[in-house]
Amino acid sequence: MGMDRLLPTPEAYDLLDLARELADRELAPRVDDFESRGEFPREVIRTLGRAGLLGLPYPEEDGGAGQPYEVYLQVVEILASRWLAVAEAVSVHTLSCHPVYAHGGEQLRKLLPDMLGGELLGAYCLSEPQGGSDAASLTTRAVLDGEAYVVTGTKAWITHAGNADFYNVFCRTGEPGARGISCLLADAGTPGIVPQAPEKTMGLRSSPVAQIAFDGARVPADRLVGEPGAGFRIAMDALDSGRLGIATCAVGLAQAALDYAVAYARDRSQFGRSVLDFQGIRFLLADAATGISAARALVLAAARLKDAGRPYAAEAAKAKLFATDMAMRVTTDAVQVLGGYGYVTDHPVERYMREAKVLQIVEGTNQIQRLVIAKSL
Ligand SMILES: Cc1cc2nc3c(=O)[nH]c(=O)nc-3n(C[C@H](O)[C@H](O)[C@H](O)COP(=O)(O)OP(=O)(O)OC[C@H]3O[C@@H](n4cnc5c(N)ncnc54)[C@H](O)[C@@H]3O)c2cc1C
Repeated sequence: MGMDRLLPTPEAYDLLDLARELADRELAPRVDDFESRGEFPREVIRTLGRAGLLGLPYPEEDGGAGQPYEVYLQVVEILASRWLAVAEAVSVHTLSCHPVYAHGGEQLRKLLPDMLGGELLGAYCLSEPQGGSDAASLTTRAVLDGEAYVVTGTKAWITHAGNADFYNVFCRTGEPGARGISCLLADAGTPGIVPQAPEKTMGLRSSPVAQIAFDGARVPADRLVGEPGAGFRIAMDALDSGRLGIATCAVGLAQAALDYAVAYARDRSQFGRSVLDFQGIRFLLADAATGISAARALVLAAARLKDAGRPYAAEAAKAKLFATDMAMRVTTDAVQVLGGYGYVTDHPVERYMREAKVLQIVEGTNQIQRLVIAKSL
């Protein structure tokens, strides 16, 4: 990526160099194979964990790397430019560590080093078949029975289903509405937690996503994260930071599409000239580059507010909305720049376009981001 970045510390420059090196060595050579087979690259994720890239924004005393969120996000951007599913896995895992980190008691926090070191992969179970955008209407129930909560219901669209080691399960322990929801941290091996067959997705095929059936699963009562009834707040708190992860994924993906389109257009010749010489193509690429820079600036502005401990929910929603819409446009335009060659799997831009679509949907659709933004006005 031929761009200059302003980073807060010399260490951050080293970290981004490490991310680039790992992205080139571990991600780029494998992406096509894993995407075509729809296989989750668990070992690649473990490698990133051992290199310290899975707990970047968490404090060192908890097993993290103590990096500002703005640095963590730029690492994810680099990973996304090589393999979106891996970058999304890092983002979802980081989100899945947030409830225990921010709201877990002393006992639960003892799990953090293994979670942040990447030995234990996380998943975040909020959505249900009947309740996506309206997450507060969820119906998965947890009833206290002696020393355990008995959990019954179905979660939907769970990234890492069947591959994760722990699940954040948002479930109803009380009244209808947001105040009756609690958060449990369940081990994946708990009897009665049954991941279903993976969904057949348009893109991001190496990222497993499936329903999970909870069939009277007994989750120990000491796995309650935060207070009973605090679950919805815990879920939304994690999502604010997670949305910036999705936004930075969009920036990395769009950057990859632009870089590919520029290189292709330079080499492709029509009417006796490089296609890159046509103003129609040059302006399209200039607009793409501008959109990427604007999206990156929004992401980093929101991250810096978060790093400073200031409210940033609306800014994160703006970044997610703008960056993912931008990535959809830029990846579609990249296909256009390649003409017919953009439409076949010999080149990665058709994959980029399929992958961009999901970013407009996950962690709150872009309609829901607009609700969050409008509420702040
Ligand atoms: C690949 C993938 C991975 C995912 N991973 C996870 C995960 O790990 N964990 C998890 O919990 N969930 C996950 N999700 C679920 C995702 O968060 C939901 O799909 C999303 O929140 C939308 O919910 P829905 O699909 O039920 O759509 P619906 O809520 O049914 O929405 C349908 C349409 O109505 C619009 N809409 C809804 N309400 C409003 C409103 N008030 N105003 C305007 N428009 C509105 C929506 O924007 C959308 O266009 C994943 C989804 C996908 C596709």
